[in-house]
Amino acid sequence: MKRGQLIVISGPSGVGKDTLIRRLLELDRSLVYSVSGTTRQPRPGEKPDQNYTFLTRGQFEDLVAKGAFLEHATYNGNLYGTFRDRVERALTGGRDLVLKIDVQGAEQVRGLLPDAIFIFVVAPSEQELERRQVERGSESDQELASRRQIAHREMTYAAEYQHVVTNDDVETAVKEILEIIQRARERQT
Ligand code: 5GP
Repeated sequence: MKRGQLIVISGPSGVGKDTLIRRLLELDRSLVYSVSGTTRQPRPGEKPDQNYTFLTRGQFEDLVAKGAFLEHATYNGNLYGTFRDRVERALTGGRDLVLKIDVQGAEQVRGLLPDAIFIFVVAPSEQELERRQVERGSESDQELASRRQIAHREMTYAAEYQHVVTNDDVETAVKEILEIIQRARERQT
């Protein structure tokens, strides 16, 4: 069976990656999402094993020691990681898999699986990004400030991605991402 494609999506906090990915999965039913592990507290409405597998620091560190993560990174004081078995299962089953990971994680995946598709999502402007971060309303002022600083730093990594997609209008951005995936599928066949 043909191996699935890995699609890595990164971008600054608040840019709308979750909304884009949700829509992407609705429009292309052959895509699956890799649910990551994290030590971050759930936000209101987030469901275990759907948004993230929520772990204690101890559980996360045990999993790191066992080699359970394909990649992992610290983001704003919390640990995040991609489960190796979830990725392998999807790809060997011929499913195309979407990872939503930060720039450090993408760097690790680039080293391991250079054939993956790397997409960086940006906001139309820095002001718009700040507006979206505040609008989400899920973070404290302190958390917001440090996420903003990280976002600023992350933007400098955009150039390392094959594809940069501006999320001005969700439907347009999703369409652009679907076209990128489609082109990669055509190259593979
Ligand atoms: P959030 O707390 O807003 O859900 O995620 C914070 C950051 O962690 C985002 O940039 C998100 O893409 C990233 N992230 C989520 N899951 C993973 C993962 O498994 N690995 C890595 N390296 N980053 C992740």
